[in-house]
Amino acid sequence: MLDDKKREAIEIMRDCNQLVSRTLAEVASLIEPGVTTLELDQKAEQFIRDNGAEPGFKGYSGFPKTLCTSVNSQVVHGIPSEYVLKEGDIISVDCGVKMKGYYGDTAYTFAVGEIDRHVAELLRITYEALYKGIEQAVTGRRVGDIGYAVQKHAEGAGFAVVREMVGHGIGANLHEDPEVPNYGKRGRGPLLKEGMVLCIEPMINLGGRAIVQEADGWTIRTRDNRPSAHYELAVAVTGSFADILSTFEYIEKVLIIKNNGLPWQNRKP
Ligand code: MG
Ligand code: MG
Repeated sequence: MLDDKKREAIEIMRDCNQLVSRTLAEVASLIEPGVTTLELDQKAEQFIRDNGAEPGFKGYSGFPKTLCTSVNSQVVHGIPSEYVLKEGDIISVDCGVKMKGYYGDTAYTFAVGEIDRHVAELLRITYEALYKGIEQAVTGRRVGDIGYAVQKHAEGAGFAVVREMVGHGIGANLHEDPEVPNYGKRGRGPLLKEGMVLCIEPMINLGGRAIVQEADGWTIRTRDNRPSAHYELAVAVTGSFADILSTFEYIEKVLIIKNNGLPWQNRKP
C-alpha cells in the first residue's frame, strides 16, 4: 500500500502531466507549414504560465526554451528557432512543467501536412511501441521488461532503437532513477514497485540507430540523417495496470478535427 505522501505526490504529478498534455494540444492546433518552432515555444510557455505552472525544461541544465522541438532527423532536445515547418516534416514536441514542487514530462511526434508513407509507418510503430512498454509497467515486472517490449515491437517492424537516450523516473526532479532504456532483456534490471513514476519514451529511427550531437550542444540527431520518432507518457506503477498520468487525448481531439486523422494517417499514397 502507498502512504499518503506518495499518493499525494502522484496526484500532483497527474496534474502536472495533464497540464503538459493540454499544452501539447495547444501546440498541435498551431502546427502547419509556415509556422516556426519558436512560435510553438512561445505559445507553450504562455499557456503553462497562464495555468499557474512553470516550464520544466527552461533553465534545466541551461536549456534555453520551454519545448524541445526536434524535426525530421533530429531525435530529441532540438531548440526552438526561426526554422519554418514545411509540408512533409515530422516534429517531436517534448514539453515539461513544474508545479507544486513536481514535474510533468510528455512528448508527441506530429506530421506537418502529408508525410512520406515510410515515415508514417515509423510514427505508428513508435507510438505502438510506447504502449507495449506501458503494458509492462506494473508491480513485480522489471525495467528490462519495458525495454524488451519496446525493442521487440520497433525492431520487429525493421526500425532501430536509440540506445544512448533513455526514459527515466520523475518526481521532485525531472530525471530520477531508474533509467528506462528502450531495449533490454526480460526479467532484468530494477524491480518495478507500486508508486514509482516513470517516463517511458521510445526514440525510434527509420535508418541506423547511431546518433550524433549537433554543434549547439543540445540537439541529438541521427548519424545517417534519416528520420526519427519520439512519443512519451508518464505512468505510475500500480499492482495490476499502469496508471497513465499524461494523455494524448487532448492532442488527438485537435488532430482529428484539424487534420482528419492521427499523424500516420496523413501520408502520401
Ligand atoms: Mg520529455
Ligand atoms: Mg522524458
